[in-house]
Amino acid sequence: MLDIQKIRADFPILSEKVNGKPLIYFDNGATSQKPQVVIDAEAKYYQEINANIHRGVHTLSQLATDAYEISRVKLQHHINAKFSHEVLFTSGTTHGINLVSNGFASILKPGDEVLVSSLEHHSNIVPWQMLCEKTGAILKVIPINEDGELIISEYESLLSEKTKIVTVNHISNALGVINPVKEMIAKAHAVGAAVLIDGAQAVPHLKPDVQDLDCDFYAFSGHKMCGPTGTGILYGKEEWLNKLPPYQGGGEMIKEVTFEKTTYADLPHKFEAGTPNIAGGIVLGTAVDYLNEVGFGNIQLQEKKLLEHATKRLLEIDGLRIYGNGKNKASVISFNIDGIHPYDIGSIIDKLGIAVRTGHHCAQPIMNFFCIPGTIRASFSFYNTKEEIDEMVEAVKKAKTMLS
Ligand SMILES: *Cc1c(COP(=O)(O)O)cnc(C)c1O
Repeated sequence: MLDIQKIRADFPILSEKVNGKPLIYFDNGATSQKPQVVIDAEAKYYQEINANIHRGVHTLSQLATDAYEISRVKLQHHINAKFSHEVLFTSGTTHGINLVSNGFASILKPGDEVLVSSLEHHSNIVPWQMLCEKTGAILKVIPINEDGELIISEYESLLSEKTKIVTVNHISNALGVINPVKEMIAKAHAVGAAVLIDGAQAVPHLKPDVQDLDCDFYAFSGHKMCGPTGTGILYGKEEWLNKLPPYQGGGEMIKEVTFEKTTYADLPHKFEAGTPNIAGGIVLGTAVDYLNEVGFGNIQLQEKKLLEHATKRLLEIDGLRIYGNGKNKASVISFNIDGIHPYDIGSIIDKLGIAVRTGHHCAQPIMNFFCIPGTIRASFSFYNTKEEIDEMVEAVKKAKTMLS
């Protein structure tokens, strides 16, 4: 059992006031808050070992390089990758997905197919559309049902030997639906397609095992899992990373440069051109340590309680509809109230210190499917409490009275 008050004390922002009220932070799907150990580790890096990595022979450069590479190994173990050189530092999920989609430009031919799902974040749609435009490949879309779940029988009939890559999120940011990715990966491999999993919403809630999933790529951001912004990881199977061309050219990613020909560095450096977010990469390791200390079992138990409580309490409100009602859900609730624009409710409850997201959540196709402009999304983290949920429910009721 988690001592929630003790956990909350780790996050200084949780004792801040917003609009004169104690902050209730339910926008964890957009970014998580940071514990003091993460904030301190960022300052400590700059105070004690700041230097550029992989370059100097001097002591600080070696200390910084060691810390960066230790963090890479930490991330490797966290996601159970076979080799540390399969773990690339990126600036976030968006960067990771673009790295892969850009690489596939040299692989796809006109008429090949790229399969995305209806549940994707724009950052897992647009790069693939750009790729299809460039190569003449065709984008196909896996549909969802009324509960917001992917229709697996439709997925099966879309798969063929024309499918070169399938790209799907592990957990939907807009609805919280957990997708059956392991089963989907096996089906894609059966027709010879590669699979990228967008794990941005999964890593705050679970420890992905990339070997067990057998995915070819797994992308996520640091900032949604208690880490700094501008950090992320792209896992890629060694054979795929060897096959794909570099994404960016520059320093750090070369073996030898002449004006006639450049040879590329070995993995992972081939994909890490330029000076990276060194502090961020190191501190991402601190964030992962923190989450593992709290324990993903504890995190899931607490979040399950919060999800059940919030679902039950919100449904007490007349005219409230929840989108995404699959059995497998993370602690995210997307909802609307009949006849009221989500933005209006979001603005009123913000005045009461409650942070939720309103709008399309970078997933317009889902909103189009339900024929709505957007939703109110409350996304909970293990540091949230039932009492905070009760306050939100009262605030939503008050907003509803004011607006109807
Ligand atoms: C947040 C998010 C992204 C984009 O992550 P960035 O950190 O903005 O690069 C992609 N996919 C999903 C499912 C997300 O939730």
